Amino acid sequence: IDDTTLREGEQTPGVVFSLEDKLEIARRLVEVGIQRLEAGFPAASKGEMNAVKSIVREGLDAEIFGFSRAVKSDIDAVIECDCYGVMLSFPPSDIHLKYKLKMTREQYLERAVECVEYAKSHGLYITYSAEDSTRTDLNFLKKVFKTVVDSGVDCARIVDTLGVATPTLMKKLVSAVKETVPVEIEVHCHNDHGVALANILAALEAGASVASTSVLGLGERCGLAPTEELIVCLHNFYGVETFETEKLYELCKLVSEIAGVKIPASKPVCGENAFTHKAGIHQAGVLENPITYECYPPEMVGQKRRFVIDKLSGRHMIEMKLKELGIEASKEEVLKLLREVKRVSEERRSALTDQEFRELVKKVLGK
Ligand code: ZN
Repeated sequence: IDDTTLREGEQTPGVVFSLEDKLEIARRLVEVGIQRLEAGFPAASKGEMNAVKSIVREGLDAEIFGFSRAVKSDIDAVIECDCYGVMLSFPPSDIHLKYKLKMTREQYLERAVECVEYAKSHGLYITYSAEDSTRTDLNFLKKVFKTVVDSGVDCARIVDTLGVATPTLMKKLVSAVKETVPVEIEVHCHNDHGVALANILAALEAGASVASTSVLGLGERCGLAPTEELIVCLHNFYGVETFETEKLYELCKLVSEIAGVKIPASKPVCGENAFTHKAGIHQAGVLENPITYECYPPEMVGQKRRFVIDKLSGRHMIEMKLKELGIEASKEEVLKLLREVKRVSEERRSALTDQEFRELVKKVLGK
């Protein structure tokens, strides 16, 4: 995984990391087992340059990359930070050539080769990030990758900048690029259609070996495939045990707090509801054996199982809650309490907290 929380993540509207924030996130990512970090865009500002330099100086057990446009001064900034590699971003799509770069395809290739040779001569590992790959003419995309790999690129990155690819298209693209160049293939997928993670998995199945993701999926617009979700998929679907999955919840909470981005309750892995059971039927099943309604145990990602006490709760839930409190009750008392729980939660249209449940027990059963 090439995590880009520190670069693309900071492109989330409203998010600005301090140097200390970046260092803390970098350390925690490496603790989880992330092998590559896109640490930032050194040419963007003095602060950004210092942050990337500091991350490199930390000597973390990961390859540190600096982001760069196809501009010599950007590459110089990455070199000055002493990064392991450069994330060289240069869009070959006709749309970007015409409206952003105002270049012909020939001029594009010339500039690409110049930049790659320059970065290579300074000993950088080069990931060539073909921004907007998924809207690039496939023949030209292949020509671009072939040309830059011949000039020294180590990793070809297919980028779905606008999140417009389907898993089937990603598979085809990765296969086509794999047939064209004998280097590592990385994929960076945006989530505008909500299929970024599916696209990453399809790409990996087709032979890509590096995935660019960010914690909580932070990034421009709808963001990217989330690092934590990819790790859980790799673990559960493909048996990848490289990562410290039990540290994921804490990592997500840390990034959420630092970035000031709230985690949606229904978010997989780290959402409040990810392991919360509400319907009486579900609760009874989980109390008997959690595998009835949990596709993996919450502890695997450092999460906790929760139960909602409200009008949908059943007798088993009440019995379990009373047992937790060390209170013995007859079957009649349990049912009486259950009726009260349903009445109260229905009346005020919300669930009861543990504290409120305790008070209700006292009131209804006098215990
Ligand atoms: Zn992006």
